[in-house]
Formats: sequence, structure tokens, C-alpha cells
Amino acid sequence: MNAPVHSLRTLILNADMQPLSYAPLSVCSWQQALVSVFQDRVIQVKAYDDVYIHSASRDYEVPAVIALKKYRQRKHVAFTRYNVFLRDKFQCQYCGKRLPAKDLTFDHVVPRCKGGRSEWTNIVSCCGPDNLRKGSKTPAQAGLKLLRKPYAPTGYQLDRAAQGLPGSENELHQTWMDFLYWDAELRE
Ligand SMILES: [Zn+2]
Repeated sequence: MNAPVHSLRTLILNADMQPLSYAPLSVCSWQQALVSVFQDRVIQVKAYDDVYIHSASRDYEVPAVIALKKYRQRKHVAFTRYNVFLRDKFQCQYCGKRLPAKDLTFDHVVPRCKGGRSEWTNIVSCCGPDNLRKGSKTPAQAGLKLLRKPYAPTGYQLDRAAQGLPGSENELHQTWMDFLYWDAELRE
């Protein structure tokens, strides 16, 4: 056993064996997962190898992957800072530079002082310099051009964006890979 038991988490799949969501990835603590399995609300798809919880009467497997019994429709996508960055693939929508979240900010395409609202279709990810350049002007007035017209993404579109981001695989447990990428074996 590599990781300490308390740090193990459980991947949650929808009834179609796809993750319930990629952005953020649907996971829960293994304790929550174990309770759901006992209550017969979910199916245990996979357990962690060689990890057992000991109680007085018996040993329990630790669920690595569970699946909902009933298919759950994707919810409305929350309008959050993270989801806006994700939709824009962490790229400034004016110069196209890809930046870590801490170096990105938001731009109201139609400035607030001109009645622009804070909503999916008027907010884009933006680098500091372009944000400064744009100020309270419209893109045309500031001599800037949008890479892409901002839109309200579907859950599916955000999932695709999350899958395309580099580096996120490091936090994924190997046990989950079969459920996240159809070509997991090819990539090893
Ligand atoms: Zn920029």
C-alpha cells in the first residue's frame, strides 16, 4: 500500500460508467463511498488493491470507483471563476497567452460602465496587461480582438476542456484511469 488510507478518495461514475463530471472531477472520500455502498445506493465497481479496513467483526474493502445506479442528468453549469477559466482553457482571450489562474483576471467585454453584465456571454479570461489596456473601453475602442465570442458552456464542453488541460493526471489514481481515458493503456 502506497498512500495512507485516510488520503484515498473514490471516483464517482454515472450509471453509464462515465465520470459524473470532469470539471471538477467527481470524487468523494472513501468513507462516504463505503456508506453509500452499504446503503445500496451505489455499485462498487473497483476496490483498492490490498487495502482493507479492519473492524471487530470483519475486514472491508476500500472502494476506488463507484457508480450510481440511476443515471443522473448533468446539472446546469455554475457560473464560477474557475469555470470561466476552464471554458477559455486558461488563455487570455485577447492575446491567446496561456497562464496559471493566479496570473489571469476577468474582463467585461462590454464594460460595466456601459451596461455590460457579469454573465457567461460578457466575461472572458484576460491577462493583466490586456486588462489594463482595455480598461473601460470596448474591444474595438481598445484595438483588441476576441479569440472567441464568450458563450455559456454545457457540462460536456467543460468536461472536454478539463480533459485537455495538461498536468491534471498527476493527481489521478492509477485505478481510475480505465474510466477516464479509453486509451489509458496506450499512454503508459
Ligand atoms: Zn492577453
